[in-house]
Amino acid sequence: MASTQTLVIVGASLAGAIAAQTLRQEGFDGRVVLVGAESHPPYERPPLSKSYLQGSSPRDDVFVHAADWYTRHDIELRLGVAATSLDRVARTVTLAGGETIAYDRLLLATGSVPRLLEVPGATADGVRYLRTLDDSEALRAAFAGSPRVVVIGAGWIGLETAAAARAAGLEVTVLEAAELPLLRVLGPELARVFADLHREHGVDLRLGAQVTGLRVASGGDSAGSAGGADGGGSVTGVELGDGSVVPADLVIVGIGVSPAVQLAADAGLDASDGIRVDEYLRSPDPAVFAAGDVASAYHPRIGRHLRVEHWENARRQGVIAARSMIGERVAFDRQPYFFTDQYDLGMEYVGHVGPEGYDELVVRGDLGKREFIAFWLGGGRVLAGMNVNVWDVVDDVEALISRDRSVDPRRLADLQIPLAQV
Ligand code: NAP
Repeated sequence: MASTQTLVIVGASLAGAIAAQTLRQEGFDGRVVLVGAESHPPYERPPLSKSYLQGSSPRDDVFVHAADWYTRHDIELRLGVAATSLDRVARTVTLAGGETIAYDRLLLATGSVPRLLEVPGATADGVRYLRTLDDSEALRAAFAGSPRVVVIGAGWIGLETAAAARAAGLEVTVLEAAELPLLRVLGPELARVFADLHREHGVDLRLGAQVTGLRVASGGDSAGSAGGADGGGSVTGVELGDGSVVPADLVIVGIGVSPAVQLAADAGLDASDGIRVDEYLRSPDPAVFAAGDVASAYHPRIGRHLRVEHWENARRQGVIAARSMIGERVAFDRQPYFFTDQYDLGMEYVGHVGPEGYDELVVRGDLGKREFIAFWLGGGRVLAGMNVNVWDVVDDVEALISRDRSVDPRRLADLQIPLAQV
């Protein structure tokens, strides 16, 4: 007999779409409703700042499923409509427009939202963020008429969009507050690899830069004035703390994201830094689950709650959350994984270096040629690894992280010793 239960997924995101797919694959034949604030069916974000932004991959490739997949699998898609409130006692979700949907189980996969630049002029025309498919398309269109691009923030968004802008032949300046790009994630040794990479590709990378305001032209004022933005006008430059101004036709802001927790927090769930869930992605409310960027999930191998803002995490947690929703118990215990492509550098990173940091960095291969695997070690064990222009090694690296004994750093660095035998 078919299930009479209704499972609602809020967030037509990658995690949400994978959860819907998993529910059907696992044989759940009740009602599944997938709610999304954007008008697009679920899509994947990696191409938005890489190949799709550069015009080298087709639009169809960004979608998680073909357009007819949802009807073929009897998934009710509610697009272009945000969930506005959650009543955990009545077990209902209310959507903008007033529709109320009763649920037996609810998955929150609401993702994250860009942190906004808060300086005078920040709302001027020509100041862009990159989070959504619409953002990516608007940014690509803006490349066409913007010879001088300034990127604020040398994180993943900043560096990938800088590479795309250089590929489009634009003049690019990247402004980063820290002393190196990606410093907090990679540490100084590897952060320098990315700094050199961008400089070699013609980016004017300015580190320790403090953005104090944006110059905005109103009407015929092409020189612009600080912060004259709020009444409209186009950005003409970025002002720095040292008094200098970097001219700009287009400013891309990539200064991080915050988890979209409002719905959960308003409903009384613990959501101070993401929605707190256990290793099965269950919140303390037995009917509510969370997955993807918004979830702060207990990681049984790492021994703490982690919130991971990367694509693979959303994919994997979508599967685990769906299985939990139908009563299966599979813990989410994979090591975090992410990748990037910038110019001729491709890399994958697996593992996690916690707030206590690492003791030693071991490089296997040639750092100068950008063909190597780097390992971050703590207490003699491998915490994380990153392969740069070296492929098919992630499983071996993950095995090194997962094993219970320490490694010999000299053997790890020795290219003659296969990773599996280190
Ligand atoms: P991000 O990776 O957290 O990087 C933001 C960067 O901006 C950090 O280096 C930050 O420095 C810096 N910053 C913050 N405020 C600044 C300011 N006022 N002026 C100049 N620099 C400033 O965030 P993101 O690049 O915006 O990306 C958003 C999310 O998408 C992240 O979670 C990211 O992991 C994810 N994403 C991942 C990929 C990938 O996996 N390949 C690609 C794109 C996006 P501090 O660290 O010192 O604050």
